[in-house]
Amino acid sequence: DASPAPDVFETLESEVRSYCRGWPTVFDRAHGSYLYDEQGRAYLDFFAGAGSLNYGHNNPVLKSALLDYLGRDGITHGLDMSTAAKRAFLQAFQDAILRPRQLPYKVMFPGPTGTNAVEAALKLARKVKGRETVVSFTNAFHGMTLGALAVTGNAFKRAGAGVPLVHSTPLPYDGYLDDATPDFAWFERLLTDKGSGLDHPAAVIVETVQGEGGINVARPEWLRGLGELCRRHDMLLIVDDVQMGCGRTGAFFSFEESGVVPDIVTVSKSISGYGLPMALCLFTPELDAWEPGEHNGTFRGNNPAFVTATAALDAYWTDDQLEKQTLLRGEQVSQELATIRAEHPDEVQGIRGRGLVWGLPFHDTQRAARVAARAFQLGLLVETSGPDSEVIKLLPPLTVTPDELDEGLRTLSRAVRETA
Ligand code: PMP
Repeated sequence: DASPAPDVFETLESEVRSYCRGWPTVFDRAHGSYLYDEQGRAYLDFFAGAGSLNYGHNNPVLKSALLDYLGRDGITHGLDMSTAAKRAFLQAFQDAILRPRQLPYKVMFPGPTGTNAVEAALKLARKVKGRETVVSFTNAFHGMTLGALAVTGNAFKRAGAGVPLVHSTPLPYDGYLDDATPDFAWFERLLTDKGSGLDHPAAVIVETVQGEGGINVARPEWLRGLGELCRRHDMLLIVDDVQMGCGRTGAFFSFEESGVVPDIVTVSKSISGYGLPMALCLFTPELDAWEPGEHNGTFRGNNPAFVTATAALDAYWTDDQLEKQTLLRGEQVSQELATIRAEHPDEVQGIRGRGLVWGLPFHDTQRAARVAARAFQLGLLVETSGPDSEVIKLLPPLTVTPDELDEGLRTLSRAVRETA
């Protein structure tokens, strides 16, 4: 058995009171799919910086691009100025991502984080449409500042800040109701019934797979239905691809499989590929209603992040190798999770996921926490998600090897067995 990890909760708590990611150790180094703590213990990382390290820790290609850039005194600030690093990124993003997919988006740098991208998307939609309401879904997660929080379905996160939901009623996510209930019938009714109390929304914001909400996967047909509904009722469709973008579901954008072309897309987390803060707000050209300086700030384009982002696009997105590999690895995960479920049919609700994002939901909400804690002791990092944190969430780097996946899944299986 692995020895119990050192307990450093107390120290960490006194330093950062609001921080809840309490793995009881101090991490020090990381490489590929592994993190190492100060005692030198290795942890297989199936969390990947909350999805910000799709290419693994200290990816050698990205690292060498960054070291080279710093070595020649490249600009390190994040101001919204024209820089060579920014131009190189924009060119690479056009060439590797937008043009091959015939996506016409303009690219905006809304600030360092995913939340910043969501704020910009909400502001832009409201400005363009001249309306205030934005509709989001039950269990949605879009960020922690006031605007993004107002479209986040987690009541606990909103409560402390006194932020109401922007929409007047939570909308059912794909699969939330029974199969016999038409998905958008009551949404359409809310929109057309003058007495519903719902003001004509400017936009609908959706995750194609809810990450924090518990790995809830929207079917392509459902997304297409949502896209059509938005068109019929003159609402913009915002896809929040902060967690599911950059290849997490296989394709670069998680909506590609559905054929839906959102009006606005938010991207962050793994776009820099190196854990450096970076975010994009993409929108169709006719939506470009910003006046110069209307949405500016100090950190609007992190130059070192541009460098690693460009290296990642060159290394992983000029062909479809990574996409194919992600889908293959995803198969491996889903098969092993199906085995775990078959061994614990009364405890595991089912398995859900796409690409390399998977969820193992438990009926007993305490169980997922116990599994994650045991997995940590056995050298595997997994987080929980879902409204009651009842889902074990698997988010390994896309560069994970089959052997590493196998090791992690065996550890997970053991953690489930040992917490029965
Ligand atoms: N949107 C989604 C879908 C997310 O998963 C997250 C982060 N978990 C955010 C927005 C917020 O991003 P950040 O934490 O970088 O502000």
